[in-house]
Amino acid sequence: MRKVLVAALGSALVAGVVVWVVMAASPVASRSGAGEPLPPPGQPSAEQQRAARETAEDRERAERLTALVEKLRPLAVKLGKPGPSDWLANHPEAGQNFKEYLDSGPVRPTVSRGTIYIQPLGDFSATQRKMVTITSEAMAVWFNVPTKFREDLKADVVPEAARRKNPYTGWEQFLTGHILDRVLKPNLPRDAAASICFTATDLWPGKGWNFVFGQASLEERVGVWSLYRFGDPDKSEESYRLALLRTLKLATHESGHMFSLPHCTAYECNMNGCNTQDESDRHPLALCPECMAKTCWATRAEPAERYRKLIELCRREGLKPEAAAYEKLLGAIEGK
Ligand SMILES: [Zn+2]
Ligand SMILES: [Zn+2]
Repeated sequence: MRKVLVAALGSALVAGVVVWVVMAASPVASRSGAGEPLPPPGQPSAEQQRAARETAEDRERAERLTALVEKLRPLAVKLGKPGPSDWLANHPEAGQNFKEYLDSGPVRPTVSRGTIYIQPLGDFSATQRKMVTITSEAMAVWFNVPTKFREDLKADVVPEAARRKNPYTGWEQFLTGHILDRVLKPNLPRDAAASICFTATDLWPGKGWNFVFGQASLEERVGVWSLYRFGDPDKSEESYRLALLRTLKLATHESGHMFSLPHCTAYECNMNGCNTQDESDRHPLALCPECMAKTCWATRAEPAERYRKLIELCRREGLKPEAAAYEKLLGAIEGK
């Protein structure tokens, strides 16, 4: 069984300590040729022919992306020395380049598991709901898969036993394990690449913890993320953009883990590990060239097309620095 890590940023009750939740994952089920007519003796089956075609396409895609990484590398900003409370100072990680990723046999969206489901839970303000809708749209572009909204779940799917008032803040919190095990897993659609639950209520993962931004189980392809600590998006235009950017970063970073992307240690990148909100705010939305290549290979996305769509989305939402960063990357691809 392959092990993949997924993490949830949050803090334990001990002051200053941040703990990440780690879970094991299994690979996506392979396709079977059951039910297809048997080929004439000596001839490859339709399944074998398709596999051979896909392998050739994958190899060709890997070559194109490898060349593209070199084209974009001059734009990438090397990750600086971590500060004492930053992720890499506390969790030394080796990192992984595109080639190592390909050699690792990563999990990818497949024909039979190719949709990301978005599950709203509990009450949202109109602005928060808009943020979830935009995040769903961004994830469809980011991972080149359809996203589908599921019908809202009322907050009462979380019983009293799986709620508490935070002992420090007095804020209401939902227990992540209950949402993952009792709410999402039993209702996971068969064709789900992942089922992501968004809530506007604060979360905590159990005894000894203060809070988490989110938690996921790769094996079960489910995750739950909270908008609660991203600031009040109705306060001002600026706070709206910040809350939206934080939501986009969280959803794309954590879902990146679901497709076998580990933390990036080479460049400023969406896949950098983060210990605190402040550290996450310092990292960009965009992926570095290596992590972009991994994502486009896994999802069979065309990089230029993907950048164009992300530019459009960022411009529309007033995320000007992010749009400008993607414009630069697109310009480099197109040789401008
Ligand atoms: Zn992470
Ligand atoms: Zn990266």
